[in-house]
Amino acid sequence: MSGRIQIGAIWPVLAVRLCVCLLILAAMLPGSASSAPQGEPKRVLMLHSFGRDFRPWSAYALSIKVALEQQSPRPLDVQEHSLLTARFNNPGPEAPFVDYLRSLYAGHQPDIVLSIGAPAARFVQKYRGQLFPDAPMVLTAIEQRLVDRSLLTDNDTVVSVYNDFSAFFGSILQVLPDTKTIAVVTGASPLEKFWLDEVKQEAKPFENRVAFVWYADLPFEEILKQAKVLPPHTVLFWGLMSVDAAGVAHEGDLALRRLHAVANAPIFSFQEAFFDGDTVGGPMHSIAESSRQTASATIRILGGEKPGNIKVQPIGFASPKYDWRQMQRWDISRSNLPPGSAILFREPSIWEKYGWQLALIGGVILVQGVLISGLLHERQRRRLAEVESRQRMAELAHVNRYAAAGELTTSIAHELNQPLGSILTNTETAESILKGASPNLEELKEILADIRRDDLRASEVIRRLRGVLRKTPFEMIELDVNETVREVIGFVSALAHGREIQLSYTPALVDLRIKGDPVQLQQVILNLIINAMDAISEAEPRKREISVTTNRSGASAEIRVGDTGPGIEAENLKKVFDPFFTTKPQGMGMGLAIVRTIVEAHHGKISVENQPSGGALLTIRLPIARGRSISA
Ligand code: ADP
Repeated sequence: MSGRIQIGAIWPVLAVRLCVCLLILAAMLPGSASSAPQGEPKRVLMLHSFGRDFRPWSAYALSIKVALEQQSPRPLDVQEHSLLTARFNNPGPEAPFVDYLRSLYAGHQPDIVLSIGAPAARFVQKYRGQLFPDAPMVLTAIEQRLVDRSLLTDNDTVVSVYNDFSAFFGSILQVLPDTKTIAVVTGASPLEKFWLDEVKQEAKPFENRVAFVWYADLPFEEILKQAKVLPPHTVLFWGLMSVDAAGVAHEGDLALRRLHAVANAPIFSFQEAFFDGDTVGGPMHSIAESSRQTASATIRILGGEKPGNIKVQPIGFASPKYDWRQMQRWDISRSNLPPGSAILFREPSIWEKYGWQLALIGGVILVQGVLISGLLHERQRRRLAEVESRQRMAELAHVNRYAAAGELTTSIAHELNQPLGSILTNTETAESILKGASPNLEELKEILADIRRDDLRASEVIRRLRGVLRKTPFEMIELDVNETVREVIGFVSALAHGREIQLSYTPALVDLRIKGDPVQLQQVILNLIINAMDAISEAEPRKREISVTTNRSGASAEIRVGDTGPGIEAENLKKVFDPFFTTKPQGMGMGLAIVRTIVEAHHGKISVENQPSGGALLTIRLPIARGRSISA
């Protein structure tokens, strides 16, 4: 883990790549030529340690190239080569690679050599005499411990970093104070072995707080197995994995991705290049800072400055940075982060993402809620008002019935007189039979039966009267309109007879079942009949006729009360249902108003018209009860 690549943390790797593409594109655009660097291109040889795509150095190299492109006042020809031998535990002969480079650059040395990483630095220092004895060199992306100062010349500049493992372990224990074990993942190449020893040294002061587990001797596949089932409070420290203990070389950053996919513990690394979704973060090397220093030194040297005069202090870790997603996953509290930490990759909350939409929806729901509760309140108020008005109507109707009872006195008296008279006659007859020497008991039995029948008749009259005058709350039951009308007719027939009125009733041939209050409906029919009686009272006795009929009309039961009176004047037709409208000297004008209120309370309708033959016709329609079959 010669870690040097600084985290261009602000620039995740992809962004860096994008920049390079944009730069290339910009260079190709017409018009950009005027601002392009002028003159003979300077040849920059960039030597990689492990390959061009091996993190963290690949990120570092990319960032340096971008910085060079941006800052160089002259055109640059960057030529890249990779030193693959660093990957192998037993490096093969380097001679063929040296020969290859020599033949490439014979007689035409590069203007500057940049070595990326410690193995590349070691190589260029070792072979500079044979390959490019006069070329200045910048050794970069190298940890200061790995710089072979004995081989440095005046023609070299070093841009190194400093790995502070103590600080990094300290930061892990700060953000996850319950950590019990730190498992160190590192490979087995010579470079990785060097760093393993260094890390072990710096881990010592922490050994009384946490246990360290070293995976350097395990093949990577075995490391993956163990990482799946780590005990709680373990963290993984990712060093590097170029070659594992089984001698298997690992390409690019695939190894870290695989570990991240299976590990049941957080992964920490001080390399910013890995801070891309796989690691938690912490104090890390800044790729941007090292690249800036490297590009600046390179450009100064190409401009003529002496490399030995350019001194760059080893670059330490930058301010800590943490991945918000990892913090969520591993339950890392923000309050545990070191002061000055930055939190990156924060996913916007649902509020941040859809703030105004949510506010709008909330507003709509609120308005709806207010409307609904307003409507519910209004409905409740209406219900109470309806109950109240029905109650009032029932009370009014009750008063009205007393008034009608007055009119019916004659009828009632007549109805009572008949049975009472019969009872008297029968009693007298029985007395005279009893006075005889041998009273006929059979005859007496018959007389007593008659008396009983007449008594029942009288009781029935009283019952009916009480029924009509009863004060009852409004109550809907299922009833047959034909029957209800028949009862009223029975009640007023004597009165009609007394007034010499011909009262006829023609019931429908079908059941007319509706839902209604029988007492209230009787009141309605009674009122209509009494009004009709009043209307025809002036007519000649022969022409005093009232006809009551019931029918089924569509989904309604119909009651019609017609008379042969004078009818209603056209201008009054609309007023007769108004309260207190009357044309009678002693009238109250409440009868039809009550009738209409009762009919409407039954969801029905009442209408009035004059018949062509003369006289008024009042028609009531009431809805047939649902779910009833009507039999003919
Ligand atoms: P009241 O009987 O106390 O006048 P109503 O509300 O029952 O009150 O009747 C209102 C008016 O409607 C009556 O005064 C009368 O002018 C008219 N009316 C009602 N029924 C008839 C009818 N069958 N023929 C003629 N006029 C009628």
